[in-house]
Amino acid sequence: MHTEKVIKRDKKYVLHTYSRSPLVLERGSGLTVWDADGRSYLDFTSGIGVNALGYCDPEWSAAVAAQAGQLQHTSNLYYTAPCTRVARKLCKRTGLDKVFFANSGAEANEGAIKCARKYSVETYGPARNKVLSLVNSFHGRTLATLTATGQDVFHHDFGPFPDHFAYLPANDSAALDTALQDETVCAVMMELVQGEGGVIALDADYVHHVAEVCAEKDVLLIVDEVQTGIGRTGTFLACQHYGITPDIVTLAKALGGGLPLGAVVMKEKVAACMGPGSHGSTFGGNPVACAGACVVLDRIDDAFLENVNACAARLRQQLAELPEVAEVSGLGLMVGIALKGGRKASEVRTRCEHNGLLVLTAKDRIRLLPPLVLTFDDVDRAVKILAETLAEIPPEEPEAPAAQPNA
Ligand SMILES: *Cc1c(COP(=O)(O)O)cnc(C)c1O
Repeated sequence: MHTEKVIKRDKKYVLHTYSRSPLVLERGSGLTVWDADGRSYLDFTSGIGVNALGYCDPEWSAAVAAQAGQLQHTSNLYYTAPCTRVARKLCKRTGLDKVFFANSGAEANEGAIKCARKYSVETYGPARNKVLSLVNSFHGRTLATLTATGQDVFHHDFGPFPDHFAYLPANDSAALDTALQDETVCAVMMELVQGEGGVIALDADYVHHVAEVCAEKDVLLIVDEVQTGIGRTGTFLACQHYGITPDIVTLAKALGGGLPLGAVVMKEKVAACMGPGSHGSTFGGNPVACAGACVVLDRIDDAFLENVNACAARLRQQLAELPEVAEVSGLGLMVGIALKGGRKASEVRTRCEHNGLLVLTAKDRIRLLPPLVLTFDDVDRAVKILAETLAEIPPEEPEAPAAQPNA
């Protein structure tokens, strides 16, 4: 009854930009979330990679509640301690020098683009303002980050877009070299594992090449770690897997542990160009969000990451053994699952929900982004439900089509 009422009210008053599941979620603890009818679900979405510590981690909840009862917001006209703590932790963990706080991934990426243009225009003159990003990327929904997003489906009907953005095919070093002959390029922006694009990790050779030629030409490398960052891939940043230090890293999703918080983390040379008045955000660095972020960042130590890696290995191995699974992609606990036999990821998602497991999709793949505090038992339970669900769905096409010679 309550469920129907909430859904009806949502349909009447909330803009229909999401196709929601017919669940009203009411409370959560760890990896379990309960709907308004009292049904429980094992959550392998963590609110799209946000709830790194699961639902309502006691230490996180206490820190947030304490800060909310002490000082909830001040604006950036004054200093507050929590945001300085988060900034120091981020610089220590990333090897970068300065942080600008935003409230979302898109806003962090927007800030990164502004920083890159400011640095390049000040250093090399006004013509140097072009931003390159990758085909199939996702960087956000604001106009500039939407423009940087290399997927046309998101672009329809929202133009005109800001000028001087262009796309590179991923993993194509020659295309990058050609594009960088253009002296007006100021930055290359990319995800190391394309999340919304289907959970696809970039080739290490390509990433090394990008880092090298960008450094040679002083074209700023912006790595969008909004989804990959904060331990998701088994290292604090995915950059560490690839052994690169970009000029700018953007973070959001898991950073606040469930509260809106984004960050642009940059090298000193970029920071030096961003003086008072150059950028801002009313809510950026909000003390309550930062109090939560402190708990998240302190929790992610070596033992924590060891658990992420051990669970990721177990999850990936068990998934790869399922007869309906064609490929397991991604890195660490950022998992993409390609299905055999034309099975639809969206159908699997709906049926998993009925069977008590919440999963995501990305393009035609199932996508898993479980809380980073999961255990082997959680992995085993999730794979069991997924295996039973997949077994319910007959293939739409032959499972193993004979190889066809190309026409
Ligand atoms: C989610 C995401 C964004 C956008 O973040 P919002 O907080 O929704 O604005 C940007 N980049 C990547 C890689 C993301 O996964």
